[in-house]
Amino acid sequence: MTTKTPVPAIEGWFTLDREAPALLGTRCVACGTYSFPRETYFCKNPDCLGREFDEVPLSRRGTVWSFTNNCFQPPAPYMSPEPFEPYTIAAVELATEQMVVLGQVVPGFALEDLHAGLEVELVLDTLYEDDDHEYLVWKWQPVTAAAEGADR
Ligand SMILES: [Zn+2]
Repeated sequence: MTTKTPVPAIEGWFTLDREAPALLGTRCVACGTYSFPRETYFCKNPDCLGREFDEVPLSRRGTVWSFTNNCFQPPAPYMSPEPFEPYTIAAVELATEQMVVLGQVVPGFALEDLHAGLEVELVLDTLYEDDDHEYLVWKWQPVTAAAEGADR
């Protein structure tokens, strides 16, 4: 049970829809190139002079491209729970956007549970808490066969 107010750990990077959260990126109006985090000034595409960007929710599912684990508490300004617990990080490829987004993997999955090409889904989870707030961040959750079955 928690009466803490959920707030994003980073403002404006993702929706706070607990059921189906999505990262918020931008798409260049001129060439369609996606960016995450959002692009404000210049298009990432070196051949494009676009300066206008639409905010778009990114794909909620992707495939693991690479992964590692972090056994060291990151220095400030990165926030992490006390005591620090090692976590797994995945670089996830989004097919539609043709980009790779880093994120923590939900607790309970170790390196040996992951492999390149594994399908994962975006979820929101607690990054850290204080007395009044629960600070949320996106994490990648492997799409298991059981969860797939439950969808149908
Ligand atoms: Zn562009």
